[in-house]
Amino acid sequence: MLIKYKIFDNNYKYIKIVQKTLFIIHFISFFLTVISNPGIPDRKYYYNKFIQTIAKEDKSKYKECKICNIITPKEMNVSHCNNCDICIVNKDHHCTCMGKCVGKNNCLLFYFSMSTIPFYTAMCFLTLLGHFIYLKDKERQINQFGEYKY
Ligand SMILES: [Zn+2]
Ligand SMILES: [Zn+2]
Repeated sequence: MLIKYKIFDNNYKYIKIVQKTLFIIHFISFFLTVISNPGIPDRKYYYNKFIQTIAKEDKSKYKECKICNIITPKEMNVSHCNNCDICIVNKDHHCTCMGKCVGKNNCLLFYFSMSTIPFYTAMCFLTLLGHFIYLKDKERQINQFGEYKY
């Protein structure tokens, strides 16, 4: 039994270090996603001189949001979020966990943050497994010798 789980004796502390590092990476990237700008369109697209200049041009190339009073080119792919009450460029979705939109600027950061979760969970599982193996060994040691060996 002890020989079978010998791998944990040598690598348990490294597993714990990797697990904690992954948590820190996840937490920092999650926090950066929360505080970053998801992609609010530039000030120049808000109703001002810009709208007067495009009035002469082909209006089918532009998209208008009446709530934000904004007019943007269609290739910018702007869509309005009802939760944030603002328009977002390349809106992916409104993340309820973060309480904000995932758009052009924080999309990569968001997916990086999410991709660390499975690895972190796997490391948690390994740490937990290692912990129970240690506990089991500890009990064995108490039963045999009547005292803790660790
Ligand atoms: Zn809008
Ligand atoms: Zn939103």
